[in-house]
Formats: sequence, C-alpha cells, structure tokens
Amino acid sequence: MDFEFTEEQKMVKEAAADFAKNTLLPRAQEFDEKEEIPKEIYQQLAELGYLGMLVPEEYGGSNLDFVSYICAMEEFAKACAALMISLSVHNSLVCDAILNFGTPEQRKKYLPALAKGEMIGAYSLTEPGSGTDAGSLRTSALPKGGYYLVNGTKAFVTNGGIADLFVVFVLTKPELKSKGISCLLVEKGAEGMSIGVNEKKMGIKGSDTRELSFADCKIPKESLLGEENNGFRIALSLLNSGRIGVGAQCVGIAQAAFEEALKYSKERVQFGQPICNFQAIAFKLADMATQIDAARLLVYRAAHLKSKGQKCGKEASMAKLFSSEIANRVVNEAVQIHGGYGYMKEYAVERYFRDARVTEIYEGTSEAQRIVISRELLKE
Ligand SMILES: Cc1cc2nc3c(=O)[nH]c(=O)nc-3n(C[C@H](O)[C@H](O)[C@H](O)COP(=O)(O)OP(=O)(O)OC[C@H]3O[C@@H](n4cnc5c(N)ncnc54)[C@H](O)[C@@H]3O)c2cc1C
Repeated sequence: MDFEFTEEQKMVKEAAADFAKNTLLPRAQEFDEKEEIPKEIYQQLAELGYLGMLVPEEYGGSNLDFVSYICAMEEFAKACAALMISLSVHNSLVCDAILNFGTPEQRKKYLPALAKGEMIGAYSLTEPGSGTDAGSLRTSALPKGGYYLVNGTKAFVTNGGIADLFVVFVLTKPELKSKGISCLLVEKGAEGMSIGVNEKKMGIKGSDTRELSFADCKIPKESLLGEENNGFRIALSLLNSGRIGVGAQCVGIAQAAFEEALKYSKERVQFGQPICNFQAIAFKLADMATQIDAARLLVYRAAHLKSKGQKCGKEASMAKLFSSEIANRVVNEAVQIHGGYGYMKEYAVERYFRDARVTEIYEGTSEAQRIVISRELLKE
C-alpha cells in the first residue's frame, strides 16, 4: 500500500494549486455575484491543458492519469467550486464519454476542439420528471432514415449556456424503457433545440445551469455515441468518474473552509484570548481535519481504482456520499467558528456553506448513493 503521490501527480497538484490560488481565488466572489465565469478563464484553462486533462496527446490533450486529474480538481474546488464543476462535466462527462464510447471519426472531430477549448461540453441526463429515477426519462429520439427526430425537455444542464456540444440521453425505443435509451452528441445550434435561461441557484452560482428543449429536432444518425439502446449503461458508467470528481470537489471546499476557520480562530479574541484556546473550538477543528482526511482517503482510493481500470462503482459512491456529507458538516462548523461574521458575504465561509449544499444532490443524491452501495453489498 502506497500513500505517496508520484512525482508527476505532485507536479500536477502544485501547478493546479498555483493557478487556483493566483487566478481563481481572487475572482471567485466576483463569479458568484455575477453568476458567470468569463470566457477568458476558459481560454487560460485551455492554454494550460485543463480542458483536455484526460484526453490523449494524439488528440491534443494532457493525457493525465485519473489520480492526477483528481488532484487538480481538488485544488480548483478549493478556490472556486463553481468553476470546478464546470470543468468536471467538460472533462469527465464529455471528453471521457467520447474517448471511451466514440467512433474514431467522433474522437477526431470533437476531442481536439474540446481539449483546445474551442468547444465546451455539457452532459444532459436529468429531465423535469426524471432525476434519481433517470431510467424513466421521456425525451424521445425516434429513428427516421438518416436522422433521429428528437422531442422533449432536459433539466439542470451544467454548462448549458456556454456549451457547444451536449451529450444527451434520449429514448430511441420507448417500449424498452431504460433499455431503449441511447446517447446522442448534439451540437449547439441544432434546429429545433432551444436553451433556457440560467437558473438562479443557492450556490456554485458561477456555474451555468439551464433547461434544454427539443421540438422536432433532427439529429444525424452519425451523432449516436456508442450503440443504439445502450445509452443507460453509458450514462451510469460516466457517473462513476463524475462522482469521484464531486468527491474531490467536497474535499476542496471542506479544506478551504477548514483553513479559513483555523486562521480566524487564531485571530478572533474573546474573553481576552484567541478563541482557538477554547477547547470547544479546538475540538471542532480537530474533528473537521480528521473528517476531511477520511474523505480525502476515500476519494483517492476510488480515483486510484479508476486509474488502474478496476471496478470502482461502490467505491465512487462511498467517496461521493461520505465526502459530501463531511463537506456540509465542515462548512457548517466553519461558519459557527466565525460567529456572526461567518453569516456575512465578506467572509469566504458564507460562499463555501452555500456551495457545499449541492454536493449531496447532484450526480446522484446521498439517498441514491446509499442505494448503489447497499445493492453492491447485498450482491457480495
Ligand atoms: C446545480 C445542479 C446542477 C446539475 N447538473 C446536472 C447536469 O449537468 N446534468 C444532469 O443530467 N443533471 C444535472 N443535475 C441534476 C441532478 O443530478 C438531479 O437534481 C439529482 O439527480 C436529483 O434528481 P431530482 O432533482 O429530480 O430529485 P428527485 O429524484 O425527485 O429526488 C427528490 C428526493 O427524493 C429522494 N429519492 C428519490 N428516489 C428515491 C428512492 N428510490 N429512495 C430514497 N429516496 C429517493 C432523493 O434522494 C431526493 O432526496 C444538476 C442538479 C443541480 C441542482
């Protein structure tokens, strides 16, 4: 058993931490207030190779192993959870989808453009009527000669307003229910596709979240990703990477909140001494640090398995479940340690508190993770 990162992983972590600290952190509050991340940030990310982290060099990517990728994502989340989730969708749910399930033509067409930032990706599984029960989605894509005729509405699409390429899950054989789901690569501007307004959210406000609608939208047959009617398997397999990514997001947010709380507890004086001298506060810090470490270990274990190409569904769910619950606990305590100031927008913990909440909801709720984990346990 080896708890050391390789030299390459350490370098990736340091470089990402540098970029996050110098470029993202100073502007994270602005992104939150404006509910937008400017295009120039994506251009900078592209130049540094962060838009093709998992893409092989032959397609212009950085070809990172999955652990290195997770190291970078943790560092980005520590500075700006909103940007991190946008990157996570682009890298692990879109680039990786095309890499793993695309035809040679699809890889050649999309991967270099995604890695260079000429295209941003979005992943669209959820619908207004189907969230946790994703297999009950209703958007239809009926095969007609050389195209699919797509009709329906998708919900909560991260990157919806900035994306150029959408990985969209649709029903190609409605009578087969979840076994009749397929995955389509839909380019922005397809006739009959419309993109809703940016949703007003509690946290991760800089990330863009929209509804997508399709009205008699004709999508060419070559846009099918993977085999017809095998889309649900693709959706679930991609979510393993996404969940480890959300785990890294949780560890990043929690670490940032912990560091702010630790600093504040040394500076804030009450009863003539820094509040960290009170055991009630010191023990909170001890619990927070211990819980973050435990969450980090689960996240990196899952990332390590994924990196080696091993089965990691249960471990990804455990990492996501535990780290999201820990992140929420830690941000809550960080606000508590800040007292009334923690409730004010001038203090970063206020944003961390709001940003953490969604981690127990998206890429499968905590209840859904418990379903996945218990099913696996009962199979063993
Ligand atoms: C900010 C944000 C960004 C998102 N980005 C994306 C994206 O990019 N792409 C995408 O496809 N989706 C995205 N989602 C959707 C997200 O994955 C869903 O919101 C999530 O899966 C939950 O679905 P739902 O909201 O419909 O809740 P529901 O499924 O309606 O769940 C409501 C409650 O019931 C519980 N519940 C449901 N079924 C069960 C059960 N069998 N047993 C026990 N409890 C159950 C849930 O855990 C939850 O507590 C995003 C969501 C948000 C908030």
